[in-house]
Amino acid sequence: MSLKLDGKKLALEIEQRLKNDLDSGLIISNRSPGLAVIRIGDDPASGVYVRNKEKACERVGIKSFLFHLNKNVSNEDVKNLINELNNNSDIDGILLQLPLPDKLNAQDLISNISPLKDVDGLHEVNIGKLIKGESALRSCTPAGIINLLLSQGISIEGKRVVVIGRSLLVGKPVSMMILNQNGTVTIAHSKTKNLVQICNEADILIVAAGRPKLIDSSYIKKGAIIIDVGIHKLKSSNNNTFELCGDVKLKEVIPKVTAYTPVPGGVGPMTVTMLLVNTIFSWQRNCGIVSTVDDLLP
Ligand code: NAD
Repeated sequence: MSLKLDGKKLALEIEQRLKNDLDSGLIISNRSPGLAVIRIGDDPASGVYVRNKEKACERVGIKSFLFHLNKNVSNEDVKNLINELNNNSDIDGILLQLPLPDKLNAQDLISNISPLKDVDGLHEVNIGKLIKGESALRSCTPAGIINLLLSQGISIEGKRVVVIGRSLLVGKPVSMMILNQNGTVTIAHSKTKNLVQICNEADILIVAAGRPKLIDSSYIKKGAIIIDVGIHKLKSSNNNTFELCGDVKLKEVIPKVTAYTPVPGGVGPMTVTMLLVNTIFSWQRNCGIVSTVDDLLP
């Protein structure tokens, strides 16, 4: 039988641990951790993600401050807000909810966030530290994936890992984390030839292509581990209901694998939890508390 890598369960366990770390840290610090969330425009999916993050903060005792800006706000105005938050000593983390309206420059804005408050781990300084293998804030989804594997005693060392996707958000940082864990990694993307053949060499296959049900059992080596990062809301054939699915035809693939992540309930909850981990890491550093979460930042 294949093992379900239950992100929801692990996320709750880590939250409990963070709550304890926070409670003991409060004895030294005289303030709670603070997370600023910048949401721009009215994209409904972003609204759901932001609310989930706010609720998660509340559960562990992180204070969240929402800045909901009009979709017509200028790049300059967002930069000014970011600068204010960079200088606000009650704020340990700044999250810019993506995607942004087209006329805003996401990478430019992220570069303006202090690397010490970049709780999405997307600033070039933090990406650089990841490449160097130095302790720093880490990209949330990739770090969540690594923690999900390690929590089940699945070692990456010496494994052949194939990552489908080369985005800055998922594919590239997760590949670097695998390398840092002594895995042998191949990064595949939309121009890769012989994808089926490459995937069949994988002991661990991480799929972040953003293509619903792209991967069927023909891509899978028997006994492999499959991590499905994709999340899609598909209309059913009668157009009345929705189905949530990933990049993998999970039902077909499960009998062939040793372990898999469900969608929903796999990688998604871990992404939110890693935001909390990063915020606690940053708060502990700002308050002179010895870090208790280094093992969660791969
Ligand atoms: P993206 O669109 O930025 O990148 C997709 C990558 O996949 C690209 O590098 C592209 O080259 C590659 N690709 C696309 N089609 C391919 C194909 N047919 N064959 C091989 N490679 C292909 O997407 P992203 O931001 O990296 O996100 C990927 C998916 O993960 C999306 O579905 C997104 O919603 C999901 N996601 C989920 C979470 C979560 O918390 N669960 C977090 C981030 C992203």
